[in-house]
Amino acid sequence: MRLRNVKNKEEILKNTTYLVLNPEDYKSKWNKLFNNSNPIYIEIGMGKGDFIIENATRYQDINFIGIEKYDSVIARAIEKLNDKELPNLKLVRMDARLIEEVFDHEIDLIYLNFSDPWPKKRHAKKRLTSEVFLDKYKSIFKGDNSIIMKTDNMNLFEYSLESFSQNGYIIEKISLDLHNSDIENNIETEYEKKFSSKGFNIYYVAVKKVVNNSK
Ligand code: SAM
Repeated sequence: MRLRNVKNKEEILKNTTYLVLNPEDYKSKWNKLFNNSNPIYIEIGMGKGDFIIENATRYQDINFIGIEKYDSVIARAIEKLNDKELPNLKLVRMDARLIEEVFDHEIDLIYLNFSDPWPKKRHAKKRLTSEVFLDKYKSIFKGDNSIIMKTDNMNLFEYSLESFSQNGYIIEKISLDLHNSDIENNIETEYEKKFSSKGFNIYYVAVKKVVNNSK
């Protein structure tokens, strides 16, 4: 998702306390930045931020970090935060390929919402659920590796289930129609609103890989 013509993009990014401009400096120190020892949940590819902002509003005892690779998109999320005070929310502008440079054994949960599907086979490694990325995530999790994924894309969903399974994850919850399931407290993303309003099913899966030395 790339947005053109976001007015005053640079100004917006400069004048916010939500955006962490030097995220590498906080590697293994994110709890210090939040000034508490609460769990840290991240969303990779947060888009314009509806999901992570609503999570941070509802769950003040959890720290949330939204990751997005485009300036213009992150600026849109920051605009929504103008009138809010959420000490448990930070935003990071980065490509998730570099995630190991920013976090070290301190993340409790990763959300992947409507990730880019990269439909061509030769681009499979770019999918955020490919083995390449699952390997990167290993070193950022504090204990058990927990991922929650939502998508409207059946091909990406099938691919991801296979990738999770081949990499030692087990399915904790799954739905092929999230909005008509018993999964409660769902927070919708921008893409989710768009696709469900067009009648598409939303696929959901929560997976976990238990790590031996976890708490
Ligand atoms: N999660 C939002 C939603 O559900 O409405 C946005 C979904 S949009 C299809 C995917 C978003 O992920 C885009 O904003 C894109 O820029 C971002 N993205 C894709 N690959 C990324 C990566 N490697 N690192 C960080 N962000 C990424």
